[in-house]
Amino acid sequence: KRWKEDLIRLGEMGRKNFQRVESQQQLDNDKGLYRIEGTPACTKSKKYVIERMKEIGLKVQIDRVGNIFARKDGTKTDKGSVMSGSHLDSVLNGGMFDGVLGVVSALEAVRRINDEGFENERPIEISVFMGEEGSAFKKVLLGSLVLVGKLDLAEALAMKDDNGISLKEALDTYGLRGDFEMNLNDVEYFIETHVEQGPLLDQEKISIGVVENITGMLWIHAFLAGEENHAGTTPMFTRRDPLIAAAEIVLLANKLAKKMAKRSGGNTVATVGQMVVDPGAPNIIPGRVRMG
Ligand SMILES: [Zn+2]
Repeated sequence: KRWKEDLIRLGEMGRKNFQRVESQQQLDNDKGLYRIEGTPACTKSKKYVIERMKEIGLKVQIDRVGNIFARKDGTKTDKGSVMSGSHLDSVLNGGMFDGVLGVVSALEAVRRINDEGFENERPIEISVFMGEEGSAFKKVLLGSLVLVGKLDLAEALAMKDDNGISLKEALDTYGLRGDFEMNLNDVEYFIETHVEQGPLLDQEKISIGVVENITGMLWIHAFLAGEENHAGTTPMFTRRDPLIAAAEIVLLANKLAKKMAKRSGGNTVATVGQMVVDPGAPNIIPGRVRMG
C-alpha cells in the first residue's frame, strides 16, 4: 500500500493532466509525464523521496553532480554495501514507472527490513541518479557518468538546457548540489528494479524477469552528399541521388538486424528514425541527405 501510494503520488508530479489508466490502450499521449531534470516538477519528486528517506532514519547525502544517496548502516562494517535505486527524471511525455519504480522499490525494501526488525549485515545505499534520461541537458546518464569517472564534473555542470540554464545553476536553484563523494569501491552489489520497456513480458503475462544482458547502443549519424539537379531534365544515368543510397541503407540495416536477431536468437535491432532531405522538393533531385 505504501509502495503504491508513493508511485501514485510521484506519478502526479510533472503531469499536465493526471488520469488513472488501467491498460496501455487507455494511454493518452498528451497525458504523459513531463519531469525533466532541472524543473520544479523533477525537484518536487526528489524532495518527496528525500522526505520519505529521512522519515525512516536514512542518512541522505547529495554528491557534487546532484546524485542522491540514502544510507542504512549495516551491522558489519567490513562488508561492501548493497546499492539499489534508479532515477526520477523522465523523458518528454514519459511513463510514470520509468525510474520511479526502482527508487520506490528500494525505499520500500528498507521499510520492510525495518518493520520486520531484520538486521542487515551490509550497509544499504538507495540511489537516485541525476539526469538519467538526458532530456534537459542533452546527455543521457549524466549523473552516473560523473560518478563512475567517465565524464568530467566541471564539464557536466557547465552543460545547458534549452533555456540556457546550466546544470550547476539548476542544481543550486533547487538546493540539490552537495559535496558528498560516493566511493564505488565500497559498493559490492547493485540492484535496479525497472519497468519493462518492451512488450515481451507483458505479452507472455509474466510478472517479473531478470535481466541477463542489456542493450549496447551504437548511434550513427550519416551525411550523404550527391548532386542536386532538375528532376525533369536530368536523365537517370547521369544522376547522383543521395536519397537512393539512403533508402538502400535503411533496407540494409533492417535486413542485417533481422539476420543477426535470427542468428543469435537475441533482440538485435536497427532503426533509422530520422532523414532530412535537402532541398526537399518533389521536382528536385536531392543534393544532401542527413540520416540517423
Ligand atoms: Zn529508466
